[in-house]
Amino acid sequence: MHELIILGSGAAGLTAAIYAARAELKPLLIEGIVPGGQLTITTEVENYPGFPDGILGPDLMEACKKQAARFGTEFVYGEATQVDFSQRPFKIWVGNDEYQAQSVIAATGASAKLLGLENESRLMGHGVSACATCDGFFFKEKHVLVVGGGDSAMEEATFLTKFASKVDIVHRREELRASKIMQERAKENPKVGFLWNSAIQDILDHGTGKVTAAVLENTKTGEVTEMKVDGVFMAIGHVPNTKIFEGQLDLDEKGYLITHDRTRTKIEGVFACGDVQDTIYRQAVTAAGSGCMAALDAERWLEEQKHAK
Ligand code: NAP
Repeated sequence: MHELIILGSGAAGLTAAIYAARAELKPLLIEGIVPGGQLTITTEVENYPGFPDGILGPDLMEACKKQAARFGTEFVYGEATQVDFSQRPFKIWVGNDEYQAQSVIAATGASAKLLGLENESRLMGHGVSACATCDGFFFKEKHVLVVGGGDSAMEEATFLTKFASKVDIVHRREELRASKIMQERAKENPKVGFLWNSAIQDILDHGTGKVTAAVLENTKTGEVTEMKVDGVFMAIGHVPNTKIFEGQLDLDEKGYLITHDRTRTKIEGVFACGDVQDTIYRQAVTAAGSGCMAALDAERWLEEQKHAK
């Protein structure tokens, strides 16, 4: 029996663990499918306070994990596959292993969104990717496409120019959503091009088992063209990892956890923080901040329960 179980090991979960461990709650943290969360599949983090020269995402997360471990957080490597929040103690399963806790912090984050094309999943890892940091290395002197018009697309495209000979950003409109600084950085890069008003209709391999071309549709004229490319990187946003909470916690129309009074969910004793409940900011520092809030809220709530007895 644990006082607190934290689900997720990104910036939110690890910060919650640091605070909860320092409050002597001896939290158990279930790491999830991507230990370290989304920052482990990014490169340079330039906007996290305290690092004037930037820090690599994986390094930042490794440091947070060490800090959480230092104060006594216990880690479980694995993904929570099922939860039962219908009564206390709450139950959480990682495969066949059952864990019980008086309180829970959901910090399961979000995952990269995909277009939903059949060939996209078939060719994933064979020229299709949702992570430039992980796979960019395999595209030395190649021509790749990056789909999306937000900060992620700009960042991925700029990063990929370290390897690829040409990177074209495919955007469905003619106006970018990305912040000005990220736009400028991409636009100034001679290897980066823009395919405006364009959507990927299909990804082809011509029987080779790896990406050889993309079928592009002009979203204004409807014209369809085939372009020879070696890779397609998806950077079209994220979906929250809330499948295991369906039917137990309230989700909004996009599947994000709904919180009230800051980090509380509709179930007393279950709190949520980070990207799994943030539809607006989705930054490393805001995730960390809300992780701190969730830990403080959980600590106070646990204290109240003791006095209520
Ligand atoms: P985002 O801001 O939601 O942008 C997603 C982009 O993908 C949009 O341009 C959108 O087009 C496009 N898109 C979505 N679904 C699509 C579909 N089915 N087909 C084609 N295009 C599609 O997501 P993000 O870029 O991942 O950024 C998320 C958050 O993380 C933001 O708050 C961002 O500031 C932050 N972030 C920050 C940094 C940094 O500061 N270093 C880096 C990465 C991300 P429309 O514009 O037409 O909707």
